[in-house]
Formats: sequence, C-alpha cells, structure tokens
Amino acid sequence: MSLPAPAISDHCKPYWDAVAAGDLRLQRCRDCRRWIHFPELACPVCGSDRLGFERVSGRGEIETFTEIHRSFVPGFEPPYIVAWIALPEQPGLRTLANIIDSDPAQVAIGRAVEFCVETRGDVSLPQFRLCRRQD
Ligand SMILES: [Zn+2]
Repeated sequence: MSLPAPAISDHCKPYWDAVAAGDLRLQRCRDCRRWIHFPELACPVCGSDRLGFERVSGRGEIETFTEIHRSFVPGFEPPYIVAWIALPEQPGLRTLANIIDSDPAQVAIGRAVEFCVETRGDVSLPQFRLCRRQD
C-alpha cells in the first residue's frame, strides 16, 4: 500500500518544489531575516508577510528520535526512524524527518545528519541520513 501524499498548499509549494529538485529551502522573513519552519502565512516574530524561501546547508544534528516497530497506519512499514533534526542556521530551528539509508544501530542523539531526498512514486520527501564522516 502506498503512503498518503503530503497536502501541498500554495504558501509551502516552494518548499516542496525545492525538495523535488534535490534542494532544502526553508522559509525566511525578508524583513527580520528569521528562519521559519514549518511554513507560515506571516512571520511569527515581526508579523511581516514578506516571506521567501532560501537554501539551508542541509546539515543538522539529531535532537531526538524514535524508532517505530509497529504500524498503525497502512503504508508505513516498520521499522523506521522519525527524528527531530536541529538545523545550524538558527537556534531552535528544526525539522521532522525520517532517518534513511543508515544503520539504525548507529542513530543517536547528537549524531550529524545530512539532507537527502526519498522518492516515493510521484512524491519527493525531505529526509536525512547519517553523515558518512562525523565532524
Ligand atoms: Zn520577520
């Protein structure tokens, strides 16, 4: 069974378009320069609606994670790992992703990870994998 596709609204379409092109671009306020994730209609800091999408490094660190061993939703085949990834561009900036193409036994809080794209049918999903070389 296939996974449900993400609902893509107009204001987060640039994010998904970038992922499909192999790039990680997050929303950023053009006025106060604050990074915003997940995408919003207005900046939660200054209220500006002048928002754009800019490339981030694609590097991060596992802030916390869980390994799923039992499926409650058709299409999600365990085991798989869901993690909060802390991004270096701004304190408190993080994203949620699966850790893929990695040895689950090596996944740990604090491990360095890098952005990658997982393609499932017509959908390109932003995921992360353990960095091959730890800095
Ligand atoms: Zn702002």
